[in-house]
Order: sequence, then structure tokens, then C-alpha cells
Amino acid sequence: MAAPQHHSLQSDDPPNGGGYGDDPSPRYGFFTDTSVCIGCKACEVACKEWNAIPEDGLEFSGNSYDNTGGLGAGTWRHVAFIEQRKPLGEQRSEAGAAVDLGLPEFARPGDDVEGERTEFRWLMSSDVCKHCTHAACLDVCPTGSLFRTEFGTVVVQEDICNGCGYCVSACPYGVIDQRKEDGRAWKCTLCYDRLGEGMEPACAKACPTDSIQFGVLDDLRERADERLAQLHDAGVDDARLYGRDPDDGVGGDGAFFLLLDEPEVYGLPPNPVVTTRDLPQMWKHAGAAAGAMLAGLGALFLGRQR
Ligand code: SF4
Ligand code: SF4
Repeated sequence: MAAPQHHSLQSDDPPNGGGYGDDPSPRYGFFTDTSVCIGCKACEVACKEWNAIPEDGLEFSGNSYDNTGGLGAGTWRHVAFIEQRKPLGEQRSEAGAAVDLGLPEFARPGDDVEGERTEFRWLMSSDVCKHCTHAACLDVCPTGSLFRTEFGTVVVQEDICNGCGYCVSACPYGVIDQRKEDGRAWKCTLCYDRLGEGMEPACAKACPTDSIQFGVLDDLRERADERLAQLHDAGVDDARLYGRDPDDGVGGDGAFFLLLDEPEVYGLPPNPVVTTRDLPQMWKHAGAAAGAMLAGLGALFLGRQR
């Protein structure tokens, strides 16, 4: 993948170089194409290894092959496994019909069973912090621990986090989380240290199928549009992009996805909205109410003087 390079941008997107001078970096992000995820969890492991994230339990969850349960302070990439009794649709290989290699068993499991074959499909998806265009976690942080980097990503600095937890309730995706030991908040940094050295994030580097793609966000959006069109042409009508639209409730995500079903199926909110959206209005109303109260008290005071 391309190493970060600097050139000018013409965009009013807040994460695009704001505060980083006249020659800001383009905005970088992730495009996670879940249609090619094989559930190997190399991304989870690479993330843990590179970021030295402590072990946070490897228990049997009973939920397919998912043993991390969801994103959290100790899990910055989470691979979801969804088992569905659903027809496979008309997905087909670009190479055409499968070739009989003369292996001992060629039929698909269940093909030789009398009656209708029970269709089954497995959806796998590697979730991560969305590095939102309008990031509520960043808006509410009172210490400046959360900040927007020169690459347009959202990073939390654990050394100046005071553990107040405001960011946890502000995140519309339930991503950022506090460690039990000291209450400090943690989440994916999109490998800020690696980006600074011109390297791609550890999860994207480790992914064997390129389900996780890292790059300049505009390029990733174009690539995602092409992939979606390809899947629709192949009859995969349920395929959709999630977080790609810059006009959605968070202004689009820096980490967006190609999904094969409704977002709720993957545990993602269908219409996320930046939770600080109404704050300016609320302050305006509160200011107006305070002004009216002061005027009333003043009138009362003056009335008593007479
Ligand atoms: S997904 Fe949550 S933690 Fe990540 S940038 Fe958006 S608001 Fe912040
Ligand atoms: S490394 Fe790639 S293929 Fe493996 S689980 Fe993660 S996203 Fe899926």
C-alpha cells in the first residue's frame, strides 16, 4: 500500500488537513470489504501485537467463532461471525464454473441429500473505530486527549486521558472504551506511529485477502464503488456500502465497509448520528432561557424598589 505523501487538498471536510498548515496530508482511512473476509483473525492478532494490547480473555462465547465479542479497550479490531440460513444468491467466481480437479469429494455438502438442500452462509466482518468525519468522542473530550491527526484520523493519547469517560457515551458506534484498571480510554489509532513512518496499519498489512484496505480515503471510496458495482453485476443484490456517504449523520466514516446484509446484522447502527449535533442549539436555548430568567428577576427587583 502507498505510504503517506503530502499534497494540498481542496475540501471543507474538517479532517482534511485542518490546522496542519498550507500543505496538509490527504485524509487516510480503511475500506473493509467484508465479502472477501475469511475470518482468519490475522487482523485482530496483528493489532494486538503491534499495539501491545493486553490479553482480555479468550473464552468460548458460544457465538460461532467469535471469542472477543465486540470492540473494547482491549480489542481494537473485532471479527464478527454471523451464521445465516440464507440462499447464497448468485455469487460466482470471475473465473467461471468450478473445475473438477479429480479430488475424492467434489459435491458440496448436502448436495446428495434427498429433498431441498439447506442453504447456509457465513458472514464475517472485521470491525474497527470509524474515524468519523464529525467525531463526537473528540468533541466532548475535556483534556484534549482525543485529537485529529494530520492524516485525518482520530487518536486518543492515553497519557493525558483523565478517565472521565465522556467519550464512551458520546461515540454513536460504541467503539471507545475504558480499561478497568485505571479508567483510561483506548481505541484504534489507525496505527498512527506506523503512518508517521510511511507504513500501513498492522491489520491491513496482515490481512491475507485484502479485506482490509488502507489508503487515501478518496481513492478507497472510488475502489469501493467499483467493487459494489461488480458485486451487483454478479447478482449479489444485498451488497451495500456502510459509512461511505459524506452526507450521512457523521459526515461519512474514515473507516467504512462493504456489507452483505443490513448493518444491524453485523451489530452496526443503521443511521448513526453524531451525538453532539444538537449541542450548539441546546446552548442557544439555554442562553435564551437564562437571559429571560435574569430579565424577569431584574423586572421583579425594580418593581419592588418603586
Ligand atoms: S467511531 Fe466513536 S471512537 Fe471512533 S472516531 Fe467515531 S466517535 Fe470517536
Ligand atoms: S485478516 Fe482479513 S481475512 Fe482475516 S479476519 Fe481479518 S479482515 Fe478477515
